[in-house]
Amino acid sequence: MAGIIQLLPESTANQIAAGEVVQRPASVVKELLENAVDAGSTLIKLYIKNGGCTHIQVDDNGCGMNAFDARMCWERHATSKITKADDLYNLSTLGFRGEALASIASVSEVEMKTKSADESVGTRIVINAGVVETQENTATTQGTSFTIKNLFYNIPARKNFLKSISVETKHIFEEYQRIALAYPAIGFEFYNQDKNLSKLRGGSLKHRIADLFRVKEDELIDASEQTEIVGITGYVGSPKLAKRTRGNQYLFANGRFIKDAYLNHAISSAYGGLLEDKTYPFFVVFLDVEPSKIDVNIHPTKHEVKFEDGRHVYTLLQSVIKKTLGVHFVMPTPTQLNNALSNGQSQNYNPTLKTTNPDIRFNPFDAPKQRTSTEWEKLDELLNTPVNQVQQQQIFENSPTPPTERTTNVTDVFQVEGAFIITHLDGELCLVNQHRAHAQVLYERYEANQHVSSQQLLFPRTVELSKADLTLYLEMKDEINALGFDTSEFGKDAIIINGLPSELSKADGADVIVKILDDFKTNYQDIKLDKRDALKQAAAKNAAIKAGKVLGKEEMIQLLSDLLHCKQYTTNQAGKAIIVKLTNSSLERFFQ
Ligand code: ADP
Ligand code: MG
Repeated sequence: MAGIIQLLPESTANQIAAGEVVQRPASVVKELLENAVDAGSTLIKLYIKNGGCTHIQVDDNGCGMNAFDARMCWERHATSKITKADDLYNLSTLGFRGEALASIASVSEVEMKTKSADESVGTRIVINAGVVETQENTATTQGTSFTIKNLFYNIPARKNFLKSISVETKHIFEEYQRIALAYPAIGFEFYNQDKNLSKLRGGSLKHRIADLFRVKEDELIDASEQTEIVGITGYVGSPKLAKRTRGNQYLFANGRFIKDAYLNHAISSAYGGLLEDKTYPFFVVFLDVEPSKIDVNIHPTKHEVKFEDGRHVYTLLQSVIKKTLGVHFVMPTPTQLNNALSNGQSQNYNPTLKTTNPDIRFNPFDAPKQRTSTEWEKLDELLNTPVNQVQQQQIFENSPTPPTERTTNVTDVFQVEGAFIITHLDGELCLVNQHRAHAQVLYERYEANQHVSSQQLLFPRTVELSKADLTLYLEMKDEINALGFDTSEFGKDAIIINGLPSELSKADGADVIVKILDDFKTNYQDIKLDKRDALKQAAAKNAAIKAGKVLGKEEMIQLLSDLLHCKQYTTNQAGKAIIVKLTNSSLERFFQ
């Protein structure tokens, strides 16, 4: 008897895989550039048109392929880079799933020309929507040239998800930058609409960074150090290069660009008082760990990795950077500063520079306009005094207090308007926004991939979704469920909810999914956050207790204690205040 289960046709399977590998033109660029790197090229040229939507071309001078491989490489799971599952854990090459080319070909029009060293004639292949149209001999030089035209032309739904040309171009340039940073010895060229945007000669990493970001080499501080657990190489920027956005922070793990807020924090926090408030340092740092101690395959686009020894890596990274900066920049002692700056600056509460001794809460970049030039000179002198042990200590004391050393013991709490909590921390009066506090706690929990508890519903609920929302849901389903939801698609235009994160009340639980998708769209598409980050923020926001919820004393104490254990607890991801502190001097001013 014939069953009802069928195998998906190969072309459909490839399109499904393409949903993971190929999210946008920049993903195609990434895969092609990585392949060119793996092929041992010394010069790689990238050409795009219309944000890569109509035209992406990558030419390399690498090993090329013979006629057999030229046909084989388009098969799903075709790879020259892995032969057994063990290899998965010991990879030195970038790609290894053997899915990229098959996926790309299934959703575009492709032309490839390639020639290996030991063949006299090259091969040209044309593939449309996964179907090979032409394979013939062609005259070409050693290396490979890929041209990808009209991405997603056969999948209108995905095409509709593409952003403006400028946004897609920006994403492509970001991929280009990341790969150019990871392989400074290779030459790269980038052409947009036939215009050259970047030409990078192969050389040292320092040179590559300076070239790519147009910064002076002497603004880059070498932060390399080998430790037992992790090898660190790379450069951190002088405080002058710090920016108000986090964009210029590049972290790589075993050669691959990663996004890791936790480790970025390790580096940023090492700057301590050297940075102006709300600015983020520039850095390009490479971490090397034994391949078996790192899981690079937890996310299809591979920007996220999991370190077996995450906490140690954090601590080591932070202390190496601290040491590096300590040698270069010396923080003046409070007494020296007081002498140097005759005018007593008023010390506003500065939550990111929280210290036990309020005197050291000095930021040399505070309000520079009020200082006279001679004061600046004196300060400059101080900042350039040779390092001695005592002064080196100072820089460390100025760093934001790590969670373990913060006051986390809250005793007196009082709720106002069902929305704010009043308490005192370190002897000062604080107002806490309860919704934002809870959202931050949840966000960091999601971010740490901590176990999120889920509660099964006795009566599963179905929610109808619009077509666009359903597509989005399907794309994000695994991530949504990782947040404690238990959901799956249900029929053509609905999903079924079998379980909810336990912090959500059952009453509004089902609508929350719709709200999360809505918020996600704004965060991801308008504000352009990273996809997973946008989802975590949206979920945290919607699962958090709302203003208006009356809380008991124990609940408030628990919430504040959770908040004070967060990595970031004074402002939320959008930069809005969670805690407002009224300093004792500002209180006095009220009564003058
Ligand atoms: P993966 O990179 O994971 O092996 P891909 O689908 O990206 O899978 O590529 C399939 C195979 O095609 C590679 O393993 C490699 O042998 C070959 N290939 C792809 N791009 C190039 C290139 N630019 N030069 C030489 N060989 C290539
Ligand atoms: Mg590949």
